[in-house]
Amino acid sequence: MTRLVCIAAIWSIFLANVSAEKPFDFESTPGKLPKQVVPNEYAIRIVPDVKSFTFTGSETIKLDVRKPVRELVLNALEIEIASAALDGKPVGRHAIKLDPKSETVTIALPSEWAPGSHTLALVFSGKINQQGQGLYRAPYRDAGSEVKKVMLGTQFEATDARRMFPCWDEPSFRARFQLTAVVPENWTAVSNMPIEQEKKIAGGKELHFGLTPSMASYLNVFCAGELETIEKKSGGVLHRVVATKGKAGMGHYALESSVQIVEFYNDYFGTDYPLPKLDEIAVPGGFGGAMENWGGITYYESRLLYDPANSSAETKQAIYEVIAHEVAHQWFGDLVTMAWWDNLWLNEGFASWMGSKCTAKFNPDWEVWLERDVPRDPTRRAGIPKEAAMESDARSTTHPIQQPVATEAEANSAFDEITYKKGQSFIRMLESFLGEDAFRDGIRKYIARHKFSNTTTADLWHALGDASGKPVTEIAANWTQQPGFPVVKVARDPAGKIKLTQERFTINYPDAPPLQWKIPLTYSVAGAASPVSLLMADTTTELADVPADRAVKFNVEGAGNYRVEYDAASWKWLVAELPRMSVPDRVNLLSDAWALVQANRAPLAHYLELVEKLPTRTELPEREQIMTAFAQIGDLIEDEPTRLSFRKYAVSILRPSFDELGWEPKEGESTRAALLRSSLIGALGRLEDEDIVAGCRARFDRYLSDRASLSPDLRGPVLKLIGRSADEETWNKLHELGRKSDSIEEKQNYYEALTAAKDPKLAQRALQIALTEELPTTRAVFIVPGVARESGHAALAWEFAKAHMKPLLAKADALSVNSYAPSLFTFFSDPARIAELQAYAKTELPPAAAKPVAKAVDEITFRAEFKKRLRAQIASWGADREPRG
Ligand SMILES: [Zn+2]
Repeated sequence: MTRLVCIAAIWSIFLANVSAEKPFDFESTPGKLPKQVVPNEYAIRIVPDVKSFTFTGSETIKLDVRKPVRELVLNALEIEIASAALDGKPVGRHAIKLDPKSETVTIALPSEWAPGSHTLALVFSGKINQQGQGLYRAPYRDAGSEVKKVMLGTQFEATDARRMFPCWDEPSFRARFQLTAVVPENWTAVSNMPIEQEKKIAGGKELHFGLTPSMASYLNVFCAGELETIEKKSGGVLHRVVATKGKAGMGHYALESSVQIVEFYNDYFGTDYPLPKLDEIAVPGGFGGAMENWGGITYYESRLLYDPANSSAETKQAIYEVIAHEVAHQWFGDLVTMAWWDNLWLNEGFASWMGSKCTAKFNPDWEVWLERDVPRDPTRRAGIPKEAAMESDARSTTHPIQQPVATEAEANSAFDEITYKKGQSFIRMLESFLGEDAFRDGIRKYIARHKFSNTTTADLWHALGDASGKPVTEIAANWTQQPGFPVVKVARDPAGKIKLTQERFTINYPDAPPLQWKIPLTYSVAGAASPVSLLMADTTTELADVPADRAVKFNVEGAGNYRVEYDAASWKWLVAELPRMSVPDRVNLLSDAWALVQANRAPLAHYLELVEKLPTRTELPEREQIMTAFAQIGDLIEDEPTRLSFRKYAVSILRPSFDELGWEPKEGESTRAALLRSSLIGALGRLEDEDIVAGCRARFDRYLSDRASLSPDLRGPVLKLIGRSADEETWNKLHELGRKSDSIEEKQNYYEALTAAKDPKLAQRALQIALTEELPTTRAVFIVPGVARESGHAALAWEFAKAHMKPLLAKADALSVNSYAPSLFTFFSDPARIAELQAYAKTELPPAAAKPVAKAVDEITFRAEFKKRLRAQIASWGADREPRG
C-alpha cells in the first residue's frame, strides 16, 4: 500500500534467503560464554538441608582448554562460592568474581593456561527455592494426614542449572555429569543415571549416581523425598514410575504407556533408547508441566498418576500425550540437542508432533490430530492447540519459529505456542508432503549423524532432503525464518477454471508487511479417488483440470498450516458436499470460517451458515470448535443486551447435541462421547440453559452424600457450574471439600469451581486463596487469571494482583514471571486499559516484559474491535436468525 510497506516486505524476503542457517558449528553458536574452555566431565556433590531450605555443594570439573586463556567464565546464579582450586591449587577469594547481572562467575588464573586438560574445583552453597527454578521444594501431605512433608526436585530448563551448581550452562557445552547426593536415611533419590553406590554417613546416606553420557547441563535432574516406585523391565531398559509414598500404585497406566512409547520410538528413530533406565517422576504440585530430563522425566503428579475410579477420560488422554511428548525428547532434545535457544522449536515442535503421532497410532479413537485443533474445554483454553498458534501467528506480535535469543529472559519467553504448535504444524505439513516413509528415513539419518551432539534446523533439513530427494531447505525457509502464514484465496469462473492467490493472513494487523510462501498445497475434488498435492511457489496459480460441477476442498484433512478463503461459487458447491465430507475436512472448514470472521474477512453469518448446515450433531471435534467460538462471542458480549438473543441461539444449536447424548454415560460408549457430554454441560451451563443448571444442582446434591454417583468425567463441569452460581454456603462447602482433598485432580475441580463464582464477594474470597498455602505455589498463582476468566470479574482480578504482585510473583516460575501482569489484561476489551497497562509497565515491569505487554495491548485492541463488530451483526439478526427448533 505504501512504499514503506513494500520495502519492508522485499527486505524481509531478501533476508530470509541470505540468512539461510548454517549447520551446527560449536565456534559460531551464539551464547555468552567464551569458547576457549569447554567442560568434559563434572563430579558434583550436593547436600540439601531441608530445614533451612539451603544446600551446600562441591564439584570438580575436568576441562579441555582449547586456546590459551587467562580466566575462566562460567554460569552461576544465587550461589555463594566458598573456595576454588585450579589444577588442585587453591586460589584467593579476590580471584573469584560473581556477576549476578550476567549470571556468570569469572575466575582469574594465576598464570596463562596452555591448551590441554585442566581441572576446576569449587565449594559452594545455595538455596532450595519455593518455585520451580533450580533445586526446589514441593510441599505436600500424605493422604488423610495433616503432617507436612516435602519432596525436592529440580527444574533447569532453560537456564537454571546454574542455580544448583556453577557450570557452563549453555546447551552446546555438552559434558558428562556424575552426581553424588546426601539425603536422610528414609529418603529415596533419583537422578539421570541409576545409583551405583550407597553408604551410610552421619545424618543420612550418601548416594553415588552413575556417570551420564555427554549431554547439555539443563537436562540434569535430582529428585528426593519419601518416595516409592513401581517398575517394569523392557528391552534392557528399566522403566519406573516414582511418586511420594502411597501414590505409586496410580502409576500403572503411565508405566505401561512408557514401555509402549519407548518401543515405538526405538523403531521410529532407528537408534535404541541409550540409557539403562527411564524414570517417570511424579512431583506433588510442582512446576508448570513436565520436563524431559534425560532418564528422569519430571511431571506434575496430576499429569502422570491415573486413578481408574476417580480420574476422567480427559486426564487419561492428557497423561498419554504428555509422556509421549517427553519421551520423544529423550532422542530429540537429549540425545541430539539444539545448539542454541533460537532453535528451541527444533526440540519442541518436533516433540509435539512426534508425541501426537505416537498417541494417534496407539489410540486411534482419540482423534488426536483433530483434538489438537481445538481446545477440549472451551472455557479453559486447555493446552496450546494449533488453532491458538495460528491465531497468535496472525497477529502483529508474532515471531518466526526461529528467533534470535540473546538473554536468559528471551530463552524463557521462547516457550510459546508458536514454538510448539506452529513448529508441530509445519512438521506435519512437511511429513505429508515428503511422504511418511521418506520423512522417517530422514529422521533416522539425522539421529544417527548427530547423536551425542548438537544441531541447527539446517541439519534436520539436510537429512530430510537427503532421504526424500526434495528441496526441503528451500521450502522450509519461509515457514521457519519469517513470521505468519498464508491464506489461499480460491476463485472459480463459470467454466470451472480455478484461480488461486496467496497472501499473508492477518488478524488485527492492517499494515502487515506482505510475505510469500512456498505452500505444500493439497486438495480433493468431490468424487475423485485420491487427493492431489502441489507446491504453490508463486503468488498465483491456476487449476484447469477440475470439472465445473464438482466441489473442491483445499487443505485435505486440515494438515496444512494455512487458511483457505473460497469465493461464493466454490463455497456453494462445498456446502452442498458437507454430508459426504470427512469429519477432519469439516472441522477444517469450520476453523477457517471462524478465522475469517475474526480477521474481518467474512461476517459472523458466514460461519453460522456452515454450523447450521452440518449434517451431524455429535462429532466431538466439530462441536468443540463451535463451543470455542461461541464461548469467545459470549465472553465478549457478556455486558451487552444482545447477549440474550445470542444465548438463545447458541443453546438452540448445542442443546440437540446434548439431548442425543443424555446425562448418564452409556455402557460401552466411546471416550469421545464422554468428553463431548462433559464439554456440552460446561458450554450450555455458561449459556445459562436452565435445564442444564438444574440438572447440575440435583447431581451435586447427590454427589455430596455419594461420590460414586457422579462419573469422574462429569465432576469438573458440574462442580464448575455449581461454583458459578454458588451462594456463600455452597461456596464454603466447595472450599472445604477442596481443602480436604488429597487428589490433585479433584482439588483442581474444586478450586476451579471456586474461581467461577459470579458473586463479586465470593470472587474476592477466591482471589485471596492465591496468597495462602492451600495449593502448590504454581497452582496458587493461577487462581488470579482463573477468576478473571471464569467469573467475568477481570477488573477485580487485576486490582487484586496489582495490590499483591510481590507475593504472587514469588510463587511464579521462570516461564511465567514476565508475562504474569500483562496476561491479566488480555481479559479486557476496553481500550482505556491499554494506557493503564503501558503506564504500569513503565514503572513496574522489567524490559523483558515488553513482548508480553505488546501482546496484551494487541489483544485488547482486537477484542474491542471484534466486540463492536459482533454487537452490530448480532443486533441486526432480528427475525432472520431465529433459534433452530
Ligand atoms: Zn517439550
